[in-house]
Amino acid sequence: MSLEDGVRRLTLPLPTGPKHVHCYLVDGTLFDTGLGLGDAPWEGAGIERIAITHFHPDHVGGAAAAAAATGAPVFQGGLDYAQCERVWGSADWPERMAAWFRQHGAPAEVADELIEQGHAFAAFVKYALDPDLIYEGSTLAGWDVVELPGHADGHLGFLRDGVLIAGDHVLQPISPAIGLYPDSRPDPLGDYLASLQRTIELAPRIAYPGHGEPIHDPAGRARELIEHHRRRLDQTGTCLNHQGLTPFEVSLRLFGDDLSPTQRRFAVAETLSHLERLVREGGAARSGDDGTLTYTAP
Ligand SMILES: [Zn+2]
Repeated sequence: MSLEDGVRRLTLPLPTGPKHVHCYLVDGTLFDTGLGLGDAPWEGAGIERIAITHFHPDHVGGAAAAAAATGAPVFQGGLDYAQCERVWGSADWPERMAAWFRQHGAPAEVADELIEQGHAFAAFVKYALDPDLIYEGSTLAGWDVVELPGHADGHLGFLRDGVLIAGDHVLQPISPAIGLYPDSRPDPLGDYLASLQRTIELAPRIAYPGHGEPIHDPAGRARELIEHHRRRLDQTGTCLNHQGLTPFEVSLRLFGDDLSPTQRRFAVAETLSHLERLVREGGAARSGDDGTLTYTAP
């Protein structure tokens, strides 16, 4: 589908979540590659280079296939590629993830379901090995590379002439998941709030997101998302008591107890990112660093 600004949008199906992911092709640069399931329309599309916004499966999973079909080089953020290898390239990631959820109060059966799911998922995420690494300040075919951590630690945006290829940094109407996971930066929500502020300052004219329609007021959307997380921070603080609750228990209070294992994983990670931000803002205290973690009201 042709959009404004010479942007071609290629939409691929997803089995879960928003049910679709957008890739964008602009002047020979393909941004993101979908999950990599089924046939993708890369051959003959005039793709000269491939850029990845972040390592989540719906964006990077088709990178190896896209590179093979087109012969194009793949560009990925330095930190993002390190995390991509750690998560999709290591056999023990699902076990590490399960241990992490147990440490945050998830019952064993909830944590163990993640192991099976994690292994099933890793098998079909075919990221491109040894991509060209890019960083804040790099340029790629006239696009400025902007590091926008939050949804993923190494999340990149690509900015040219007021057009931001946004990945999942800003979405509308859904709000991007901001979770804390093992081996990641300690305060992803703090990172995200700063990245939203940066978006307001960069003031792109339009953002093309990984899911949903183009965003015509990215700075306005960034302000809404800051407000959303401020409210969620307040709600999270209100859940706390002086006896201490695990992040899993806080997630039950915030998101209810009727979630699938996948939804629960997002809920706990999201709760944790808010708890850690609260700790830094003086709105919560953490204890139990050597066993199960709990958080209390200050
Ligand atoms: Zn996505």
